[in-house]
This record gives sequence, structure tokens and C-alpha cells, in this order.
Amino acid sequence: MLCSELNLGQCKTYLLACENTRKAVLIDPLRERIDRYLAVLAYHGYRLEFILDTHTHADHRSGVWDLRELTGAQTVMHREAPAPRIDIHVEDGQELRLGKMVLTLMHTPGHTPDSISILAGERVFTGDTLLIGGSGRCDFAGGDPGAQYDAVMDGLFSLPDSTLVLPAHDYRGHDHSTIGAEKKSNTRFAGRSRADYIKLMNNLGLPLPQKIQEALQANQSAIEDESVNFPSIPQLSQVRQIEPLLLYEMLKQGEPPTLLDVREAEEFSGDLGHVGGSRLIPLKELPARAEELGIKNRPIVTICRAGMRSTTAAAILTGLGFDHVSNLKGGMLAWDDQKLPAER
Ligand code: FE
Repeated sequence: MLCSELNLGQCKTYLLACENTRKAVLIDPLRERIDRYLAVLAYHGYRLEFILDTHTHADHRSGVWDLRELTGAQTVMHREAPAPRIDIHVEDGQELRLGKMVLTLMHTPGHTPDSISILAGERVFTGDTLLIGGSGRCDFAGGDPGAQYDAVMDGLFSLPDSTLVLPAHDYRGHDHSTIGAEKKSNTRFAGRSRADYIKLMNNLGLPLPQKIQEALQANQSAIEDESVNFPSIPQLSQVRQIEPLLLYEMLKQGEPPTLLDVREAEEFSGDLGHVGGSRLIPLKELPARAEELGIKNRPIVTICRAGMRSTTAAAILTGLGFDHVSNLKGGMLAWDDQKLPAER
């Protein structure tokens, strides 16, 4: 098995390849470096099978969609990842085969709800869950320090001590560590209770990454179009959220709201299906097509997979003068979890 880190910077992208079958996987590719990744793959004669993001990144644009387009490899993320065009949504314990290698996906939430770690033989790629001598911040939307503590203490730290730890970031010049070394000397966790950890992580007071808005929204929506004007974070936090059960009740009443699904066409008719009666306008087409929704004072509920893209859509519509827009909280994933009826 070949494993190499391709960026030689603080942001890590790993190439993992089976040397017998020449099949390869890239973990956490950066959009601005895809030319280099393609060159490395071509030089070694590797065929890219899978492209994984360990989570929805807030600090850089993901390269997974460009690479999918250019190589035909399948994109892989956790089930809770909000982005479209993910070919394989994985859950805790699921395995992927790469030639003779088996990759085991572990759900390790906390930094984000969709964070995964990838166990490949004697290596574990820990994303931003476990860093060398540290751990990823939990103060972005959906962050949960308690979940992260559990994911590390009960999940990653139950791997053999000799397992190599390969994180998505390192700011201090390390390139790897081991589970045994982290258990002993990672001061975020060693000798610290869950309550202590939550307190510590809630009080880090870190500045937000530069370009967080641009990176998050592009990575949550996979929209490449630079001309789409995304709403700002304060506008997004003002979007009214509506629970799936409440929407279900409203739909049974006399004048139900207009349902606007903003996913891609293949998701609309895909596994999760859609709420009966909804109309489809993909998010990237919404600014140009909002007029199709007609009068602006009718209630509208926006819908997507996980509730991220549709929150953006709701803010865009509000900005365009639509008065009564709310968002289906948790999207079709939450609708499906509540076993509410969907059309396919
Ligand atoms: Fe991150």
C-alpha cells in the first residue's frame, strides 16, 4: 500500500493506493491543487476510484467535484453531509474496497456533524476530529464538543496503540503520530473528563477562518458558479426553521404553503425522494428563476437534503422580497427519519 501526503502544508491531502491493482483514493483534496493530484496519479499510473472528504470543510474549497468530473471517480461522504453529487453516503462501520485494501469508515462527529475517520490497515485518517496534540474546533454550526470527546475516547482511542494517526491539518510541523502517543500526551484528552473537555472547547475563542462563508457555502452546495451571490451568515441565522412534523400537518390543511425543493434533479427523484407537490428549482438556478414562484406574499417552504442549501435558498428569496419563507429543518434526511411520506 502506498500512502503519501500531497500538499506539504498545514492542510493535508492524502493519496492512498493499492500497488497491485493500481487503484487509488484521495482524501480531502483541495480545489486549487487538483492539477497536481492528477499529475501524481498519472505519473504513478494510478486509477482514482474514490474521492473522500472527511467532513464539510470551512477553510478551503473542496476539490471532490472537479475531480469527480475529470476522472469519473466516486465521491464519498458521511450520510449527514449536506452537499449534492455525493455518490456514496456512508455510515459508521461501513467498508469500502480499494483493490485488496479495505477502508473502514468511522463516524466521528463533533468538529462537524458529518465528520468521519477512515481506518486503512495500520493507519487512521482522522480528519479534523483528532489532530496531533490537539483536536478540531467545535464552534462552527453543528459543532458538538461532547460528541467529539466520545468519538475520540470511545472510538479512535480504542484502536491499537500502534495505529498511525494522519490528521487533515497540522500547524506545528508534525506529519504523523500514533494512537498510543496521542492517548498519552494529547493534552486536550489525557486526564480530562468529558465535562472539562466541553468547557475547554467552548472557550477557545478562535477567530473564524478567512473566507469561511465562501468555502462553507460552496462546499455545502457544490456550486462552482462564482456569480451566485450567497447570503451572509447573519441573514442565514434569521431564516425561520420549520420542523418536519409541523410541515406535514400544514400540508393537510386548506391552503398549504408552496414547497420549493432546491436540490439537483437526480436527488429529487433519488433515494430520499421528495415531498409530494413540491416543485424543483436547483439552488444555483434560483436567483434567475425566482420569479416563477409568483406572488411574493404566499408562504413558501424551502427543502433540500440536510437543510443547508435550503436555508441559503430561503435567505436568497427573502432578499428578493418574498415575505413568508421558511426552511424545512434537517431537510429530507429529517423528513425520512420521521418516516413521513415521500414521493420518488
Ligand atoms: Fe475542518
